[in-house]
Parts: sequence; structure tokens; C-alpha cells
Amino acid sequence: MNASDIIYLDNNATTRVDPAVVEEMLPYLTDFYGNPSSGYRFGSQVGKALDQARERVANLIGCEPLEVIFTSCGTESTNASINSALLMDRDRQHIITTRVEHSATLKHCETLAKRGYEITWLGVDSNGQIDLAELERSIRSDTALVTVMWANNETGVLFPIEEIASIVRKKNVLFHTDAVQTIGKIPVNLADAKINFLSLSGHKLHCPKGVGVLYINKRTKFHPFSIGGGQEFGKRAGTQNVASIVALGKGCELAGQFMEHETTAVRAMRDEFESAILNRVAGSRINGDPINRLPNTSNLAFEGIDSEAVLLLLDQHGICCSSGSACTTGSVHASHVLKAMGFSEERARASLRFSFSRFNTAAEVQTAIEVVPQVIEKLRRIANAA
Ligand SMILES: *Cc1c(COP(=O)(O)O)cnc(C)c1O
Repeated sequence: MNASDIIYLDNNATTRVDPAVVEEMLPYLTDFYGNPSSGYRFGSQVGKALDQARERVANLIGCEPLEVIFTSCGTESTNASINSALLMDRDRQHIITTRVEHSATLKHCETLAKRGYEITWLGVDSNGQIDLAELERSIRSDTALVTVMWANNETGVLFPIEEIASIVRKKNVLFHTDAVQTIGKIPVNLADAKINFLSLSGHKLHCPKGVGVLYINKRTKFHPFSIGGGQEFGKRAGTQNVASIVALGKGCELAGQFMEHETTAVRAMRDEFESAILNRVAGSRINGDPINRLPNTSNLAFEGIDSEAVLLLLDQHGICCSSGSACTTGSVHASHVLKAMGFSEERARASLRFSFSRFNTAAEVQTAIEVVPQVIEKLRRIANAA
């Protein structure tokens, strides 16, 4: 299957690497293969490329370059934050998180619970929002970390992260946010935010897979997950994935340039698609806070249909989208996010996520607006005939 044959509306699962990003990284796979930690110029010129990438990431998220630690992915960044917080103080072994996190947090916390750590799972309302008073009440003297995602990967729902971070800071507890879906989609400025740790991932913002960042506030102590050489200020040992890091730097620079576009043109595409579908398909509804939401994400429930069947039929038309979270596709579980919002198993199984990017075109949106209602109508006809 060629990229030119598909309409890719699954940009929360991964994204197309921007050609300018590929161009920027290629020389670091060919000519510039020196070790960035080597003392001679052939190495240190590669080290300078790392420095530049670090500055570009810092610019996008409003922090200092020395607060940017390159990792292998968003999952590693999140895992490392949780592990560090638990190692900080043996008297603090309690973690607070939400029921709607990505598996990078969810599965890690479930594993910790089995090992005897105590986890508080905050629920959400039908808009996908947590109760801030409940969060505040849950913070204890033995809480090691509060970890709450910034934007939900399935629904796009945005949590008021700056406000949450302030509540947590007042109680002198560490705060991590999984911002993998947020960075590059909406402006983020960490300068005044009371955030200790933040995770982001390259492949969700038009960069390659297998590279991420862990932001660690410069006043926050950190226990490394990976121990060895002194790379990444001693916070993440291992020779850096230079080409991918250079790519991520370029991708962050571009994300800054396209930020206005993401919040206007990409949002307009999403809105046009969404309102057309809601108009044309009876029994269709938005899942998630329609206001506090990423500009690119539309999660829709279609009464009485099986989203897996819709996916298969859309695939025949070359349209890629997602049912539930990509990480659980193939398993029999309906979306934990939609169930946490209080929706029935049936509604959760009748829901699809469409996620847009700057590489989608107006023509693709029009095709999707034609095809999606046809597919749903076809499935409903089959169901009624049975
Ligand atoms: C994709 C994603 C991750 C995982 O990032 P990887 O780089 O694939 O490990 C974590 N959290 C959220 C919200 C995501 O969407």
C-alpha cells in the first residue's frame, strides 16, 4: 500500500515525517557519523548539532536547553519520570493518576500496584474532565507523584494542566504530564508552569519514531533510569540517536512555524468534517469536551454500529482512522477512555477517532465526508436485514 493511495486520518497514532525533517537528518546517517561525545572536531561538530536540536525543542516548549533530555520515545520519558519520583523518597510511594491515561502511564501504574505501590485513579465526567477538588483531596503526605496527561490521545480532551500543576505544587508534590499529543498542536510555555516532568514524542509531530524528550525542570532532582556514560547531563546514559534527535529539533522548529496553521486551518478541516458527519449521519455524537479539545481530533459515536466493521470498510476506501486506542487494537477491550467517561460498552464499541494534520488536504476531507456516511449506512442496512 502506497502513501499516495491513502487518506490518513489517524494522526494521533503517528504522523508523516515532514520532508524537511528527513533532509535535515540524512547527513547524520551518512557523512557526520562521529560520536558527539568525542573531543576532536569530527565528533564535536555532531555535538553542536545536538545542542542546536536541544535549543529548538526548548524554544518550542518555553524552557531552557539544559532541561531537555533526549530519550527513545514518549513511553520511556513517562516511565522514567514515575520511576524517578518513587526513588526520590522511600516514605513517598503513592501515585495519583487518571483512568484515561495512555498505556505508557496506565500499564506502568497497574504494574506498580501489583508490586505493592498505592495508586489513586481519578475518574472523569461525561466530558472527559477530572474533578480538581477531588484531585486536591487525593494528595497525601506520602504522595510521590501526580501524573496527568495534557491532551487525551483518543478524544483530544485537554486537561487544565497549568491549574493542576499549581494545585500539586502547593502541596509540595512532584508533577508529571504526558504531553505527547499536545506538543506541536497547541502552544505550550513551560516558563511559568509548575511542572516538574513532561514527556513528548517525535513521531506524533512529523518526526521519526523512536525519539522523544523528557523535560526535567532544572530545580527538580532526578534519578536516571538508564545508567552508564554521562550523556544527557548524566540523566540518560547511552550514545544519542543523533540523526533522530536532529530530526526532532527540525520538527520542533517547524511545529513552531506551523502552530498558527494547526490551530486555525487544521481545526477548520476537523470542524468541517465533524459538522458534515453529524449532519449526515443520524444517531452520531461527539465523544469528549467539545470546547477544551485538541484542534485536530474528532471522536464520534455512531449509534448501533460496530467500529471494527467501519474500520474494515473504510480501509477498502483507503481511509485510515482508529477505533479506541491504537495500542489496544486487536484486543477485545472497548476503549477504557470512553468507558471511564461513563459511556456504555455499546457506545464505546460504536466510536471512531479521526485525527487530522497539516498534510491532509481539502479534497481528502471531502472524500471522507462522502465515504464515511455511505459506509455507516451500508452497515446499518446489513444489520437491519439480519
Ligand atoms: C503515542 C503516545 C505515547 C507513547 O509515545 P511513544 O513515543 O510511541 O512511546 C504516550 N502518550 C500519549 C498520549 C500518546 O499519544
